[in-house]
Amino acid sequence: MKQITKAAELQQAVAEAKAQNLEIGLVPTMGALHEGHLSLIERALKENDFVVVSLFVNPIQFNNKEDLAKYPRTIEADLDLIKSLELRIKGACTDRLVAFTPTVEEMYPDGEPTEIVYHFGPVEEVMEGPRRPGHFSGVAVVVRRLFDLAQPKRAYFGEKDYQQVAVIRALLEQIKYPIELVPCPIVRADDGLALSSRNMRLSPAARAIAPTINATLEQAAEMAEYEDVDDVKEWVVDTLASFHEVNPSLCPDGLKFEPEYFEIVDARTLQPIENWDAAGDLGAVGCIAVWLDGVRLIDIVKF
Ligand code: AMP
Repeated sequence: MKQITKAAELQQAVAEAKAQNLEIGLVPTMGALHEGHLSLIERALKENDFVVVSLFVNPIQFNNKEDLAKYPRTIEADLDLIKSLELRIKGACTDRLVAFTPTVEEMYPDGEPTEIVYHFGPVEEVMEGPRRPGHFSGVAVVVRRLFDLAQPKRAYFGEKDYQQVAVIRALLEQIKYPIELVPCPIVRADDGLALSSRNMRLSPAARAIAPTINATLEQAAEMAEYEDVDDVKEWVVDTLASFHEVNPSLCPDGLKFEPEYFEIVDARTLQPIENWDAAGDLGAVGCIAVWLDGVRLIDIVKF
């Protein structure tokens, strides 16, 4: 792995790779890497000749400045993890992988854009969109800059951020770049909790009950066989919101789940559905955001 911090140096490395007809894969991340990120990098290495992993905490996608300040920054450990992945993968050679770790000034030489640059219509008008104004535009700005710098053939995104995948699909349609979007499955801890950089902020008691989110969603998928959409939605929210009442011994010091939303949507359009038959070719997906111990966790379930 080679670490690059300058945009011009990345462009140079990309130009050299292109001159050799190498196929380039891009994995955008905000660092604080875990096995979920590594699964994207591993897949990108399998499917491309040359891989750019970006590690950049993008300030313009944070609508909450406190969240930005608290976001973990663990660059040395991240680079070690990438190196350990390289050792793990037989045949991966170090000159095929670039870790791009720019500063904010390097990414935004003309200053951080403060206005909304992109609009994506219905896919961003639900769930995360209205709750995080400017978030998806900020994501699109940084991803487009990364597309321009890395010129990938394929770009890898995790399905944990399900709405983000739909937004990137819409971005690609808008800017007409011939890049293949590769959505990747969620990697979970052994107890089912979706891996997330934010999990490290959970107290031990909160971490112990956090797998309830996934367990509840899995039960919801079973209920979908015989219950209506609205009933499943209500049951998920009620189950999590009342968890501390049902399990007081597991919830010391006022610990509780506070669901922000749980929506059952068409997996392609992300529009809420009212009955199971309304889902289109990709089926239905349930998307949840829930607060636990001051940390906002998201997860999905496919129906
Ligand atoms: P982040 O650094 O959180 O912005 O994530 C970078 C990329 O990794 C995004 O495409 C995420 O969806 C993906 N990702 C994060 N967590 C996971 C996970 N547990 N499983 C698979 N992909 C993930």
